[in-house]
Amino acid sequence: MKQLLLAGLAATLATSAFAEYPDKPITIVVPFSAGGPTDKVARDLAEALRKPMGGQSIIIENVGGAGGTLGAAKVAKASNDGYTLLLHHIGMSTAPALYRKMAYDTLGDFEYLGMVNEVPMTLVGKPTLPANNYAELLKWMDANKGKINLANAGLGAASHLCGLLFQSTLKIEMQTVPYKGTGPAMTDLLGGQVDLMCDQTTNTTSQIESGKVKAFAVTSSKRLTTPALKTLPTLDESGLKGFNVSIWHGMYAPKGTPKAVTDKINAALRVALKDAEFIKREEALGAVIVTDARLNGEEHKKFVAAEIAKWGPIIKAAGQYAD
Ligand code: ASP
Repeated sequence: MKQLLLAGLAATLATSAFAEYPDKPITIVVPFSAGGPTDKVARDLAEALRKPMGGQSIIIENVGGAGGTLGAAKVAKASNDGYTLLLHHIGMSTAPALYRKMAYDTLGDFEYLGMVNEVPMTLVGKPTLPANNYAELLKWMDANKGKINLANAGLGAASHLCGLLFQSTLKIEMQTVPYKGTGPAMTDLLGGQVDLMCDQTTNTTSQIESGKVKAFAVTSSKRLTTPALKTLPTLDESGLKGFNVSIWHGMYAPKGTPKAVTDKINAALRVALKDAEFIKREEALGAVIVTDARLNGEEHKKFVAAEIAKWGPIIKAAGQYAD
């Protein structure tokens, strides 16, 4: 009886300790450079989250490098008080197959807070590339074998995954140039220092729209409806049967963050994802906001587990690892 009372008291104290959450600024770690697609989603989301998070400031901290694993590791080891969160993409589920040594356990070291959006990708090239469509790109690649380079955001990044599948499906090898995010990679693509990149529409749409990059295809299974992207063919219809890489973002807290806190974050996330301004921005960039059961932390975790199981064999077959 006494034990029961003590346990009850401890639970009440733990709950009341977090009753005021959040009462100071919250940091969302983005595991890629500022100005890239994940960073853009995070900054727009932070804006939409501010009100439902009681008006607290939300700070974005960019911890780029190693395909997003450095930022994820930082959050896995952060204090589990709800003030350090992670916004990450599909790299959460591809890293376990790509890295022999992981500094964190994807399914064991985080509380899953819910999914945010799904984002298709596009294959784009430097503005001076002589090819103007996918057929011309194939010819150019054929004529330039061994000399082509492809930018990405490091092993495990979506750009890496997409580029890896592109090379293995076409059976050509390119020199990959890793960045801490596709924000800086885009700068180099625009400047002509790299030839090609596969990146999220959240980063490429405005560059395609203004004709600053050459756009060759979308990597999703269906064509997109976004005005600037709807004339682009899919890689599937262009001859790479079955090619389909789209990414998703989700939010995470360090393992052991109290349920009273994760419930508050999840409730705020659900409100933020209905924010009209956020929806408008995402739609204009080709992203689709998650509205299904994966808004729920448990379903989000199940989805990530299924993605780990899906991508592991594909990545292993394409044969790339990092220590
Ligand atoms: N688009 C990057 C990637 O390749 C990530 C980023 O810079 O946001 O995954």
